[in-house]
Amino acid sequence: MTGLSEYPLRFAACRDLGHAWFYLEWRNGTRAVRCQQCHTERKDTLSSAFRVMKRRYNYPKGYTVSGQLRIEAALEVRARLARLAKTQHIRWAVA
Ligand SMILES: [Zn+2]
Repeated sequence: MTGLSEYPLRFAACRDLGHAWFYLEWRNGTRAVRCQQCHTERKDTLSSAFRVMKRRYNYPKGYTVSGQLRIEAALEVRARLARLAKTQHIRWAVA
């Protein structure tokens, strides 16, 4: 394991499962969404045919690893989550 053992769990779950997006604003050809779990924000610029032309992310402090969005980090945090799943420390859906 690497230095990601201290990586916040709310960020780790998003890297593993993807973000939990909710709409923030939808005005003209631009929509903004926010992840309810980690608070990453995404802004999409849509064409007149509603295709996404441009997408920009604004990550919370500490989400990126060494200032970059490292893909391997997702695998490292997934390994940690797999261990934590045995000890109930991750968030589970409510039945
Ligand atoms: Zn998220």
